[in-house]
Amino acid sequence: MIYLDHNATTPPAPAVIAAMLPVLSGVWANSSSQHGPGQDAKRALGAARATVARVLGCKPVEVIFTSGATEANHLAVRGLLASAAPGRNRVIFSSVEHAGHLRLARSLAQAGIQVDFIPVRADGTLDMAAAKALITADVALVSLMAANNETGALMPVTEVAALTHAAGAALHVDATQFIGKQPFNFASCGADAVSLSAHKFQGPKGVGALLLRQGVALMTQTLGSQERGRRGGTENLAGIVGMAAALELLDDVGTQAARLTTLRNTLEAGLIRAIPETHVWCQTAPRLPGTCYLRFGQLSADVVLQRLDRLGVAASSGAACSSGGSEPSHVLTAMGVPAEEALAAVRFSLGATNTPAEVNHLLQTLPPLLVPLLHEEMLTAP
Ligand code: PMP
Repeated sequence: MIYLDHNATTPPAPAVIAAMLPVLSGVWANSSSQHGPGQDAKRALGAARATVARVLGCKPVEVIFTSGATEANHLAVRGLLASAAPGRNRVIFSSVEHAGHLRLARSLAQAGIQVDFIPVRADGTLDMAAAKALITADVALVSLMAANNETGALMPVTEVAALTHAAGAALHVDATQFIGKQPFNFASCGADAVSLSAHKFQGPKGVGALLLRQGVALMTQTLGSQERGRRGGTENLAGIVGMAAALELLDDVGTQAARLTTLRNTLEAGLIRAIPETHVWCQTAPRLPGTCYLRFGQLSADVVLQRLDRLGVAASSGAACSSGGSEPSHVLTAMGVPAEEALAAVRFSLGATNTPAEVNHLLQTLPPLLVPLLHEEMLTAP
């Protein structure tokens, strides 16, 4: 199998599994227990927290372990909103946030909070003029992703941080797709809170963190004594140790990013050469190294994914499956892409395990399957 769906999830690295196994079998005590085994677990938790803090450029006390990015996002938005000063009752999201995060936005709106969305331009980048107009003195917080999971487009986090702080509001950044693909430093990124998820960078699933700048008030959403009262619940120690091990592998993230950019550019150039109907979105925007989001004319994504499956290639479509059918991606819709083009969206996302040989194999085998279909489509078009 050729796995080209690293933005969905990544295979755990062997070093991650090796770090987790002894914890699962031997360090299973509760880190809140006073006895010896409990204290061993507490030490392992502290060591993992120190590693996470070192790699991500924050203080250990700024790390709140969660069950992943969805929970970290909810904790940040609901927690910062509940702690905002009186009179600050607006929350700003971008229109291209992760689907789960937009559900949270809708649930806030249903509860009577004023929610506004910063639009994106046709190339997938954030509309900064609109951001300036929306971020005013009545805003409690702005929640913005660092990189889009579909297009890979990078968002201007430092510029938005400056606007947000000038308005006296807090900035939450969903860095789920960014951390692991680009160098990241919490201290210098400008955000007050940052979400991450281990399974996006070769760590285990079901574990992540919210990094929270020391001194920023955040109302807990899960009552309990763990994580200094900020997130209750017995810690997923094996997962946390696995996440720390995965972060340690990111010391060479810059080299990996350069390698994946070359590989992705080879893939895109090869597909455009072999299939002239190929259209790549966000090709000129600053974007993640391994993400390639495209359509082959208006060939339905379902048809392309079936052919890819036949070739043993795992990729994904840009459409969110809803009961009974597919809807065009909200990200492409926000970029002004018509539905019939958005329903043709296919995403290849490359990662640590991919090789030039895999990309060459795809370039040799996919075009002969798609070109006849595109010709048929041209003949039958009205
Ligand atoms: N935010 C973004 C940008 C994501 O891509 C994802 C995962 N697809 C999430 C949040 C949710 O992460 P998790 O699976 O850890 O809940």
